[in-house]
Amino acid sequence: PLVLGIETSCDETGIGIVRGTTLLANVISSSMDEHARYGGVVPEVAARAHLEALVPALKQALAESGVTLDELDAIAVTSGPGLSGALMVGVGAAKALAVSLDKPLYAVNHLVGHVGADVLREDDSEIELPTIALLVSGGHTSLLLVRDLVSDVELLGETIDDAAGEAFDKVARLLGLPYPGGPEIDRVAIGGDPKAIRFPRGLSQQKDMAEHRYDFSFSGLKTAVARWVEQTRDSGAEVPMADVAASFRESVADILLTKAVAACIDHGIPRLLLGGGVVANARVRELAAERCAAAGIELRIPPLKLCTDNGAMIAALGAQLIMAGHEPSTLDFGADSTLPATVIQA
Ligand code: ATP
Ligand code: MG
Ligand code: FE
Repeated sequence: PLVLGIETSCDETGIGIVRGTTLLANVISSSMDEHARYGGVVPEVAARAHLEALVPALKQALAESGVTLDELDAIAVTSGPGLSGALMVGVGAAKALAVSLDKPLYAVNHLVGHVGADVLREDDSEIELPTIALLVSGGHTSLLLVRDLVSDVELLGETIDDAAGEAFDKVARLLGLPYPGGPEIDRVAIGGDPKAIRFPRGLSQQKDMAEHRYDFSFSGLKTAVARWVEQTRDSGAEVPMADVAASFRESVADILLTKAVAACIDHGIPRLLLGGGVVANARVRELAAERCAAAGIELRIPPLKLCTDNGAMIAALGAQLIMAGHEPSTLDFGADSTLPATVIQA
C-alpha cells in the first residue's frame, strides 16, 4: 500500500511516503536550532514550528516521490508518546487530510515506529523476529521485546529519570558546549581517554541488575560529571575536556549495552535493533558492535536518517498494519503524550 506518514512528536516535522517497505520520500524539518539557546526542546516552540513546517514538508515529499494525495491508500500519524502540543499538530493535520481525501487513517505509536524503520532498509534483508530493540533519543531510553511489529511489543524497561540523549545535552551544557550535546561530546571526546575518570554506571551494578535489570538511570551520572568538573575547577586545575567527554560517553555506552545485551541473553534472542538519535554516537556504535560480536548477537542499525525522528518510519508502520489486515483507527483518538509502547495502534 501507498502510505503517507506524519510525525510531530518532538522537534522534527517528518513527512514520509512509502509503498509497502519501499521508501519513496522522507522529508525532515527540525526546529532544533530554535531550541539551542534553551539547551533543550521547548514544547511550545516545537508545536509552533510544526505548524509552519508541515505543509511545506508535505508538498516537498509529494514532489520528491511523484505521488499525488489522491493516489494514497492511507495516512499514518504518530499519536504518542511525545510532547502533547507537538503531537496535536500532526494529529490534527492527519485527521483533516483523511477526512477531506476520504482515506483511512492509522494512529500509531512513535516508539514502535522506530522499530518499524528497519523494514525500509535498502539491502532488503528482513528483520528477524523476535528481536530486542533499544531506543535511545532525547526523550526516550526504552528496551523493547518485539515479537510482532503490529501485534506484540513488550516494554522490558525504560529510564527512571533522564533519557540518554538528555544526559548528553545536559553534560554538554555544563561543559560549556552548545546544543544538541551529543555530536559535541563526540567531537570533544576525540583523543580523550575513556578510562581517565570512572563515572558511575547507573543501575548497572550487580545488586541493581537484580532489581532494575532493564531500567536505566542517567541523572546520577550527570550529577557525578558536574561534581567532578566543579571540584577540578575549584582546585584551580584545568578541566581535561577530552577525558571528561570520553569518560562520560564511555559510561553511557556501557550502561546501554550492558542492559541491551542482558535482555538478549535472558530471552535467548540473539538479535538487537538500535533506534533513536543517540545511535549516532560513535562510541555507542562501536561498543554495540564489540559487545554483540562477543555475545553472538546480530546487530541491526538502520541508516541514521531513519534512526532519528522521521515520517517514513510512521508510514512504514502504517503499511505494516494494513498488510496485516488491521482496521483503520476511528477518528476519535487524540494525542497521547504517555501512550505505552505496548499500544501499537491507537
Ligand atoms: P524523541 O525522544 O521523541 O524521539 P528527540 O528529538 O529527542 O525525540 P532524536 O531527534 O532522535 O530524538 O534525537 C535527538 C537526541 O539525540 C539529542 O538528545 C541529541 O543530543 C542526541 N544525539 C544526536 N547525536 C548524538 C551523538 N553523536 N551522540 C550522542 N547523542 C546524540
Ligand atoms: Mg529530535
Ligand atoms: Fe523518536
